[in-house]
Amino acid sequence: MVLRKNSNAESYPLKYEDVENPEPKENDILVQVSYCGVCRTDLHVVEGDLPPLAFPIIPGHEIVGKIVKVGRNVRTLSEGELVGIPWLHHTCGRCEYCITSRENLCDSKVFTGYTVNGGYAEYAIGEEGYVFALPEDSDPAKLAPFLCAGIIGYRALKMALPRPGGRIGFFGFGGSAHLTLQLASKLGYQTVGFSRNPSHLKLAEELGASETILTAGSDQGMLRNKERNLDSAIVFAPAGEVVLQALRVLKKGGIVSIPAIHMSPIPQIDYDGDLFGERKLMSVESNTRSDAQEFLNLAARLKLESTITRRSLKEANKALSDLKNGDVVGALVLDCRL
Ligand SMILES: [Zn+2]
Ligand SMILES: [Zn+2]
Repeated sequence: MVLRKNSNAESYPLKYEDVENPEPKENDILVQVSYCGVCRTDLHVVEGDLPPLAFPIIPGHEIVGKIVKVGRNVRTLSEGELVGIPWLHHTCGRCEYCITSRENLCDSKVFTGYTVNGGYAEYAIGEEGYVFALPEDSDPAKLAPFLCAGIIGYRALKMALPRPGGRIGFFGFGGSAHLTLQLASKLGYQTVGFSRNPSHLKLAEELGASETILTAGSDQGMLRNKERNLDSAIVFAPAGEVVLQALRVLKKGGIVSIPAIHMSPIPQIDYDGDLFGERKLMSVESNTRSDAQEFLNLAARLKLESTITRRSLKEANKALSDLKNGDVVGALVLDCRL
């Protein structure tokens, strides 16, 4: 499913085309894609919220599939293995960020499904060191959302520095929040789901939320008169006003972490009323490879399970427009086996 120019998801800008099979370079692997998750970042790539970097481009960065070919320098991966290819495709390995294990901040990052072709396709390329072995004993479609929604949510949870057993708010309950809330609940935190959408809150309850709060109508959704009782908050919704909502129910010393690659402007923050008391805002950029491996280990150990809606590869446009309209509970996954 190829993107040739940015356009609204409702205009179905991805075209189903025959393209040449990619050829793995010396450090690469070629994967036959079984499933690819649909992430909000794909929507930002397609609609041009992120600056366009390459056309034509095949989106998709939650790729699950078997290795069918390896480049000649590849040592740790072999044909037939089930692997995941995530968003972080390659980093320079030499800059101040890369040499201090902060490769998520590298200025020369390459992104799957944005700067190089991704997984809305039958075949995709990954680079050794940036792809992850996946367990063979679970439903591979349900592993796809782990590769971005899960990993980035895990990093956001780490960055929010919740105290052990503390109370964490989850704002905007999509693909990433549904995995992160599940993880946090299993790790013994109190978890509170906030959403405008009652069906999202129902899922939050099923996944172990200690409490859910419907934000629509609550003082124009700004939560002004609620008790400030969250130790930490994670804002998944790409809407600046939600950051303010989160700040207004945060305890002193708390952190609001924001795993969003793009967000609408945050409304004016009142320093005295909203931020004072050592409250902190923290953006989260991508993830390191160790975040990815830590999350995948935890997901297997704690038996995290994605709630998914399956679509065929050819339905990618419909999937993106449903995601945009908030009509999705859990995560969307494309079946790329034609
Ligand atoms: Zn670098
Ligand atoms: Zn993503």
